Amino acid sequence: MRILIANDDGYLAPGLAALVRACDGLGHIDVIAPEQNASGTSNALTLNRPLSIFEARGEHVKGFRVVNGTPSDCVHVALTGLLAQRPDLVLSGINNGANMGDDTLYSGTVAAAMEGYLFGVPAIAFSQAEKGWGHLEAAAAAARAVVEQVLAQAPLGGLPWLLNVNIPNREDAASLPRVVTRLGRRHASEPVIVQTNPRGEPIYWIGPAGDARECGEGTDFHAVAQGRISITPLQVDLTDHASSAAWAARLAGA
Ligand code: MN
Repeated sequence: MRILIANDDGYLAPGLAALVRACDGLGHIDVIAPEQNASGTSNALTLNRPLSIFEARGEHVKGFRVVNGTPSDCVHVALTGLLAQRPDLVLSGINNGANMGDDTLYSGTVAAAMEGYLFGVPAIAFSQAEKGWGHLEAAAAAARAVVEQVLAQAPLGGLPWLLNVNIPNREDAASLPRVVTRLGRRHASEPVIVQTNPRGEPIYWIGPAGDARECGEGTDFHAVAQGRISITPLQVDLTDHASSAAWAARLAGA
């Protein structure tokens, strides 16, 4: 088995090294990750300049390939020419912080996995529920257990699938129950934070994500709050199928 691993926190992020270590022995592993933290870049591709790739040196990142671009760039380049052989599985993460509910639309972690999925490769995005890398090794062990269980149950090589996994920051993360969830929803983001730059001009910081709004039973937020590992199967089609007929009626004859 060939596994491609990427992330959005950058190639130096502890979560990436932990995921790579946790996958040791599962197959041939290629790591291709962004040079800088690219959290919140969603599915962006870099189209206004060429990309450069170098091989990382150093104890925890040896052999990692580094792209001066986005998470999606990493997987895109890997699958469209960089890798001599197509991977059987794409993994992304482990992210520094939750990717639940609306986060999935902004997340570079989810996007890196989604890029694999869009190219027909099964993919899993992993995130720790809280920032700060608390109990990271336990999260990595949990991630490996998810990979092993999924591979045992869902054969590779058929229709691709995309899973979004959020892991509570707990010492016992690897032994927590795993539950399949749906995405919850967050409240609107906090207001933008306005400051003044040294030239007296206003600058704007995007505010933090809102708290969970729809977080009832069955959602990713609920599962993580209950101390479970949340596994949400994702699809990419944004079509509002439920309202398509109503729109067709409204717009008929227009
Ligand atoms: Mn991130």
